[in-house]
This record gives sequence, C-alpha cells and structure tokens, in this order.
Amino acid sequence: MPLYEYKCKKCGRTTEFLERGSGRDRHVCPECGGTDLQKLFSTFAAGRSDSKAGGVSSCPTGTCPLS
Ligand SMILES: [Zn+2]
Repeated sequence: MPLYEYKCKKCGRTTEFLERGSGRDRHVCPECGGTDLQKLFSTFAAGRSDSKAGGVSSCPTGTCPLS
C-alpha cells in the first residue's frame, strides 16, 4: 500500500497518509485540522534511504553485520 507524505499549507506540519487507491481520500492535518494539504512524494518509492544513512555510517569498517 503506497504511503504518501503531505505537508499542511496552514501549519506546515508534514504527515504521512496511506492511500487505498481511490484517489479521492480527503486528508486532514492532525495538528490543526486543516484540509489544504500538498502532496510531497511517496515514501514507499523513495525507500526511506535518508533515515538509514546515519546507521550505516556509524559502522567504521563498512563490514558490520546488519543485525
Ligand atoms: Zn496543519
């Protein structure tokens, strides 16, 4: 199921929403209740590489086991 990130134009908060494919989902900002949200990108497609970067670089030799 694709996960999309939306930014609220009212308060600026970024929130992730799951979309079921209808294309008519009405997203509401959990912070301020605003409905004017801008779609940023799909985190499903992006692969979350940014959040993993810190953990990978913490391995000094690059050969550390993943788990
Ligand atoms: Zn908001």
